[in-house]
Amino acid sequence: MATTETRSELGRQIVEDAKKHVLYSWSVQDAINPIAVERAEGRHFYDYDGKAYLDFASQLVNVSIGHSHPKVVQAIKDQAEKLATIGPPMATESRSRLGKLLAEVTPGDLTMSFFTNGGAEANENAIKLARWYTGRHKVIARYRSYHGATAGGITLTGDPRRWAAEPGIPGVVRMFDPYTYRCPAGHPDPCPVCTGAPHLEEILQYEGAHTVAAVILETVTGTNGIIVPPDGYLQSIREVCDRHGILLIADEVMAGFGRTGKWFGVDNWDVVPDILTVAKGINSGYVPLGAMVVREPIADWVRDKMFAGGLTYSGHPLACASAVASIEAFQEEGIVEQSAATGEVFRTELAKLMERHPSIGEVRGLGCFWGLELVKSRETREMLVPFNAGGEAAAPVTRLAKAALDQGLYLMTHWNVIMVVPPLTITREEAEEGVAILDDVLSIADEYVV
Ligand code: PLP
Repeated sequence: MATTETRSELGRQIVEDAKKHVLYSWSVQDAINPIAVERAEGRHFYDYDGKAYLDFASQLVNVSIGHSHPKVVQAIKDQAEKLATIGPPMATESRSRLGKLLAEVTPGDLTMSFFTNGGAEANENAIKLARWYTGRHKVIARYRSYHGATAGGITLTGDPRRWAAEPGIPGVVRMFDPYTYRCPAGHPDPCPVCTGAPHLEEILQYEGAHTVAAVILETVTGTNGIIVPPDGYLQSIREVCDRHGILLIADEVMAGFGRTGKWFGVDNWDVVPDILTVAKGINSGYVPLGAMVVREPIADWVRDKMFAGGLTYSGHPLACASAVASIEAFQEEGIVEQSAATGEVFRTELAKLMERHPSIGEVRGLGCFWGLELVKSRETREMLVPFNAGGEAAAPVTRLAKAALDQGLYLMTHWNVIMVVPPLTITREEAEEGVAILDDVLSIADEYVV
């Protein structure tokens, strides 16, 4: 058993080596200072000094079942002993079971899955299939979206993470988001953007609907600040797509698997997309996995054709076994229902924070998917941290996040939005403990209110 000092020393060494030899994603390399994590369990992870962190971010909003869930860990061990790896041309028990389970838990006639290593690859394959199926080439995506860091995924992405990869793939057209708090149309009643159809119809008029293969959207926008569409929006987009023979691709890489309090985000509005892309919560990232799930007509259409897509690790046995175990655990433990119930706790508790803290301009979300939008003034809605700001301009939120971390609360933030996205298995006590720390550190944001 290592002594406390040697464990702490090991932690320091790990960070030093990481800084020297690991290229970190989306980071100024000199600015990173990662926490060396020794272990994790439930809603907590622990560093080499033994300090516990309450994971209010589910890492990258993916550890939905919580850390080290025994059933999922056991399934990986069992699978590794039996069949650690096998190529995609074979049929394997865990892959077939997962395909069948996904057909059961996803809505409508979404029945056939192509397995990937993550979310971006699922989106790549979704737009490729949509173009092939429709014989059209354009894809409409929204500005406040993230769809992954591969060539197509990052071009579909509307936020500034796209800029470094431009010009990207051809044929991507942009539309605005139903972001009621900062509506680009000034949000008249009815709003052409936030109701969905009028704005999309106008874009189709300019682009030529017959050239558009698909509309891709995050059902509930995740990293760009938790944007929940108004009721009716998604149905309205669905209806326009149907009328023009355009496929609707719902990117539920983040919103899927209970995050919104329903199995899938689309279930909140009873909409069935033509293609659903998933990853993250499918198995909480215990082994990398994503999937593109398609509806029956597309599945039927593709049956007598050669599908021009593939990955060496498509349907990897360890990934599939962990996903089967995770979905079964969701069903056995009522984790989706728990997420919905916790959503009501957050609705109440975060609203109380808004009463106490003038820096909170809006609280929005559902299930275990919440955002607190911080402003300098509720009247002008000026962002507490400007769009795409870093460095000193981002200080109000970086200071706040650091203060939370010091108190053992790990937060994800995006410019002026604090995300509350813990594992769906979070207990009421843990949720309240995290909100209490938030309550304390929000006084830092309040200092900047004018
Ligand atoms: N789509 C959405 C909505 C996401 O949030 C993400 C990742 O955060 C992705 C796609 C990309 O997934 P991955 O990082 O697994 O490729």
